[in-house]
Amino acid sequence: MSFPSTTIITARCPCRANDFSIAVPSSELPLAGSICHCDSCRHLTGCLFFAAAKWPYTLPQSPHLKSFSFSDSLNTYFCDICGTQIFSERVKANSGQQTDATETNIVYVKSGALEETEGVVKYETHLCIGDTTDGGVSDWISEVPDTSMMKRWKGMTEQREQVPVGWRAQGHSTTTTEANNSGHGADKIRGSCKCGGVSFHITRPDAKSADWSLDLRQHKPEYEKPKEPWWLSGPDKDKYTTNCCCCASCRFASGVDFVSWTFVPSHNIRPAGDAEGQDWSTSFGTLKTYASSERSEWCFCSKCGAMCFLKLNGERPNVVDVASGLLWSEEGARAEDWLWWLTEKISFDEEGGKRPLVEALRSGLKSWNEVHGNKMQFEEKAQHLGYK
Ligand SMILES: [Zn+2]
Ligand SMILES: [Zn+2]
Ligand SMILES: [Zn+2]
Ligand SMILES: [Zn+2]
Repeated sequence: MSFPSTTIITARCPCRANDFSIAVPSSELPLAGSICHCDSCRHLTGCLFFAAAKWPYTLPQSPHLKSFSFSDSLNTYFCDICGTQIFSERVKANSGQQTDATETNIVYVKSGALEETEGVVKYETHLCIGDTTDGGVSDWISEVPDTSMMKRWKGMTEQREQVPVGWRAQGHSTTTTEANNSGHGADKIRGSCKCGGVSFHITRPDAKSADWSLDLRQHKPEYEKPKEPWWLSGPDKDKYTTNCCCCASCRFASGVDFVSWTFVPSHNIRPAGDAEGQDWSTSFGTLKTYASSERSEWCFCSKCGAMCFLKLNGERPNVVDVASGLLWSEEGARAEDWLWWLTEKISFDEEGGKRPLVEALRSGLKSWNEVHGNKMQFEEKAQHLGYK
């Protein structure tokens, strides 16, 4: 008698209060996955996209899974200790409609919370690219391994309209290079999580923003201090350096395969309604802090689970990593009027391993850089972005 082969798949958060392993018949793999670029997913994760796959069983029970009502028909679940987004569930009951007893809820697992995705998830569709206005990171995750033709829907699948790589909303022609070299208008940019409990704005760099003392590592003999503070970018140093990170720590903290951080001096971050000049702290709104190590503190929304900030105490407590997906810019999801994307290097690339979305990011950025790369200043900055 032979038994069908099974594969163990594990979804978990960094604090391991939520740690679920299930045996899936190998014949059911890979699980169907999709990537959503809508405004809601962006502000729910703090990342520029959200990838999920169908979990083949019912929603696991855990006292530390906190639910958030994402929409009438979708609940999301995150760790109430460390904030990681782990599951979502499509339900009928929320809408007030009669529940069909034969119809079971569909459970999705967040791709970044999965230990492994190679051979486990097959990403089939991009959703809601239209929300990004500028293509967001859909332009960089165009060639996903083992996926011959990913559909690139402008909206949800029902809408049937696809958009190509490099698509821009009508009247929107800006590319990274153009945006990086153009002037800017607004003097602040708003940021918020999906539920609005964490709401803030960022101001343009000022004289104090370029103060080297913000990076405490400068005093270490082994630290090669670059000519200019690495967190400011652009010809006029009026943009904030931004890059993608593939480290396991960021991935598990967000539930997203790769995250994007914008590096901002703390005095340039103002909680909504806060008086100017007041010291910034991570105790505003619905923020909750999780200390993942002696060095680092994650700050997430305790109501919706959005990843918001990462602080490296002891190294650069006053240059804060801001989750780029929280920002609202008319330029689009990449907020290129404020952010300078370092597209030539992925932070902790090696930790991304063979995850399909990281492989896609590598090849997508390579193609992107041939046309739009921000080579200027790159070499020098890249050495100073290391964090974990
Ligand atoms: Zn946790
Ligand atoms: Zn979405
Ligand atoms: Zn929130
Ligand atoms: Zn990271």
